[in-house]
Amino acid sequence: MSHPASTQILVAGAGPVGMIAALALARAGFVTALVGPPAPKDDRRTTAVMAPSLAYLSTLGLDDGSFAGAAPLRTMRIIDATSRLVRSPTVTFHAAEIGETRFGLNVPNVVLNAALEQAVSEQAGVVRVETTVTDWNLNSSYAQAVLEDGATIRSRLVVAADGRNSPAREAAGINARRRELPQAALVLSFAHERPHGGCSTEFHTEDGPFTQVPLPGDRSSLVWVTKPDNARELLALGNEELALRIEERMQSMLGKIAIEGGRQVYPLAEISASPVARARVALAGEAAHVFPPIGAQGLNLGIRDVEDIALAAQAHRDDPGAPAALDAYARSRLGDVTARSGLVNLLNRSLLSSFLPAQIARSAGLTAMREIGPLRNLAMREGLRPGSGFSSLFRSSREQVGG
Ligand SMILES: Cc1cc2nc3c(=O)[nH]c(=O)nc-3n(C[C@H](O)[C@H](O)[C@H](O)COP(=O)(O)OP(=O)(O)OC[C@H]3O[C@@H](n4cnc5c(N)ncnc54)[C@H](O)[C@@H]3O)c2cc1C
Repeated sequence: MSHPASTQILVAGAGPVGMIAALALARAGFVTALVGPPAPKDDRRTTAVMAPSLAYLSTLGLDDGSFAGAAPLRTMRIIDATSRLVRSPTVTFHAAEIGETRFGLNVPNVVLNAALEQAVSEQAGVVRVETTVTDWNLNSSYAQAVLEDGATIRSRLVVAADGRNSPAREAAGINARRRELPQAALVLSFAHERPHGGCSTEFHTEDGPFTQVPLPGDRSSLVWVTKPDNARELLALGNEELALRIEERMQSMLGKIAIEGGRQVYPLAEISASPVARARVALAGEAAHVFPPIGAQGLNLGIRDVEDIALAAQAHRDDPGAPAALDAYARSRLGDVTARSGLVNLLNRSLLSSFLPAQIARSAGLTAMREIGPLRNLAMREGLRPGSGFSSLFRSSREQVGG
């Protein structure tokens, strides 16, 4: 495979975060090698890509038209389907309440990855190398990746988008706290009798969330988080039996259900790396943070990692992997990553826990969100992008006091 012996930046891993990073860095004027095998073509998941992430992708040349097969997400509802002593009220969030037409788009992963692959292939400044990195040599002046065929590529900065087991993270000596969860996610798509009206419903159960997300037409995708044994059992069921189980879980909200295509199970974990940059390596996406699929946060957080890496690299153009650039990146990500991972993990643990105070706290939080409009608006804006809820609250308070 032909490739240069050195580039300014090397992105390891060609999953969605790696491809977005390569696009962003090449557009910022850096010669960038994107090294990794192609993303799988049979990924049955869909990703809720939120409006700020869509806006960022459009600056990289990917607009709504790139995502055929995606559906807008206009309403999000949380239903407590536990049989616990303290149950939470149903909370519904409408994008219209914060003046938006949608929270984002639900995009099948195969569509997202194909659109990103196409954009990468057309992007000047990206050298695509379809192989794995087998070893790293990191020193104070450069990073060297050893490829499968023994060839090497040197760069000033490595963006490690090589997933939850990130070999680049390990080579850089970055510590990752890891906890395997007693949960797995069954994913599939299904057709249904009644329209979803652009609404996604997250049922909170004792085993984790069961989330339906709209697809075009009378179709939806499903992420069913449950115990690993149960997920394996569901995976083996016939289509009709599984459809009945899903309809029952959804309290027949969408009427009769017909499973479409195949299904997959994903094991779940909590992983948190700290610091997110060191020794010429900046972590992005699941190399930096992994948490359960609640509230569609994972890839959206990874996209914000990329935004911040591109800013730090641009501010240190002579040497984008210098300690000052890495420190700037690590500082910029600290609040967002800690808050998102912490909140999602806390919510997940509160579902699994039979500890009464945890149930009371979850119920009180959701009740407050249902009853207090400004708090609900704040949660919706902050769910889309950190800081946007607080800045909007500040703007409207200033308008009210005539400031
Ligand atoms: C069931 C489920 C539903 C989800 N739904 C949502 C959602 O609705 N919204 C949302 O925002 N997020 C969602 N997420 C999270 C989202 O899927 C992840 O955040 C995202 O896929 C992470 O992308 P990534 O590129 O960081 O990692 P990955 O997709 O894991 O990519 C890592 C890449 O690195 C490559 N690699 C590994 N080792 C090497 C090496 N040595 N050399 C080169 N390449 C290497 C791998 O081949 C792989 O292609 C969901 C997750 C799950 C499990």
